[in-house]
Amino acid sequence: EEKTLAMIKPDGVLGNYTERIKMVIVESGFSIIRETITQLDEHRASNFYVEHSSKSFFSGLIKYMTSGPVLVMILKKENAVADWRTLIGPTDAQKAKITHPHSIRAMCGLDSEKNCVHGSDSLESAQREISFFFGEISSG
Ligand code: ATP
Repeated sequence: EEKTLAMIKPDGVLGNYTERIKMVIVESGFSIIRETITQLDEHRASNFYVEHSSKSFFSGLIKYMTSGPVLVMILKKENAVADWRTLIGPTDAQKAKITHPHSIRAMCGLDSEKNCVHGSDSLESAQREISFFFGEISSG
């Protein structure tokens, strides 16, 4: 089975969506094998989103990601990376409400920045992001 990293971003945690999101996760066949709540500082948020450092939205993104605690989880399931991306829906939560009304971002996101959840976009990012938050873990 595959592992992916899921994150409930500050707007999701502060908006009290944690339990609802976890319910969707479990009902969709994922196991939550690790979870931790943490507050990112500028340095860690910039490191996490380093691939976007030259984008125009980067400073806004870092401000958003450091505005409150995030809940990070390792999800396990067959095809976890792609299936979690499908479940969260498109980046722009406003569009998600129209095109993917049953997605998590449609449920709790606001726009293309405040979209309430994150999911690794490939197996490689999943490995990097899991190590980023949990250190090296065994591959069972
Ligand atoms: P994530 O990596 O968080 O799962 P994603 O892969 O759907 O989201 P990316 O393109 O990797 O989207 O962008 C990373 C994050 O940067 C987005 O989730 C969002 O919070 C923010 N972001 C992306 N595009 C914009 C934009 N045009 N304006 C403002 N913020 C944006």
